[in-house]
Amino acid sequence: MMAGMSHRRARQAASPPPELHCARCGTASAPDGVSRVAALRPEVLAALALDRSPGPTEPVCRACTAHARAAVFRDQLAAERGELGELETDIAKRAAEHVAIAMNLDAASEKEARLSDRLSDRLAKVGGSWGFVTAFLTILVGWMILNAAVLREGAFDPYPFILLNLVLSCVAAIQAPIILMSQNRAGIRDRAQATQDYRVNLKAELEVAALHDKLDLLLHHKWESLLALQDAQTDLLEELIDRTKKQVVES
Ligand SMILES: [Zn+2]
Repeated sequence: MMAGMSHRRARQAASPPPELHCARCGTASAPDGVSRVAALRPEVLAALALDRSPGPTEPVCRACTAHARAAVFRDQLAAERGELGELETDIAKRAAEHVAIAMNLDAASEKEARLSDRLSDRLAKVGGSWGFVTAFLTILVGWMILNAAVLREGAFDPYPFILLNLVLSCVAAIQAPIILMSQNRAGIRDRAQATQDYRVNLKAELEVAALHDKLDLLLHHKWESLLALQDAQTDLLEELIDRTKKQVVES
């Protein structure tokens, strides 16, 4: 007897759970792959555009929920900002699908950087350091002392150091474009970072607003069930009072 029951239980555990059919598209999904109508916000339910009014326990598949939620987010953004760009439409879709969009742009930029980009960054970093300034000043002063005080008559660059001027001009001519290249790259990186921040913030705003609505809905449901429970308790109490009164009258 016990063995038969345990066999039945094992068969029940092994058999897959019954599939549920979406109230909108009719697609069959596992029970954990659907949302119940009662758990959807009224706006999402309206965006589902069902041709009949569904029961509270009817299932809606993930794809239909995400589609309706994206439509709600798009409407919400359009109401706040007017015309929507490609970026906002994409964010509404990703927020509805709960897809993570945060990414490390520095790592991606490093990976895409060419050898020349890395070289210009490195040179700009070295050129903008106190170490470079100190070394350069030491070379300049050394050059002047060597030519003016040590070598004197045999100086390869006598006062007013025309060769030194030429070297300095060449260094400046090369250094300026290298720093500009590095700054351009930094500018592109900053713009990409700003766009990325905007995307993440916008998605977070949409999701937080949706969470607020969902919490309101949960509180509303809870309040309604509490009221129903209170009504049932009041009915029971009235019935009990009536019964007691009858018993008192009969005795
Ligand atoms: Zn569906």
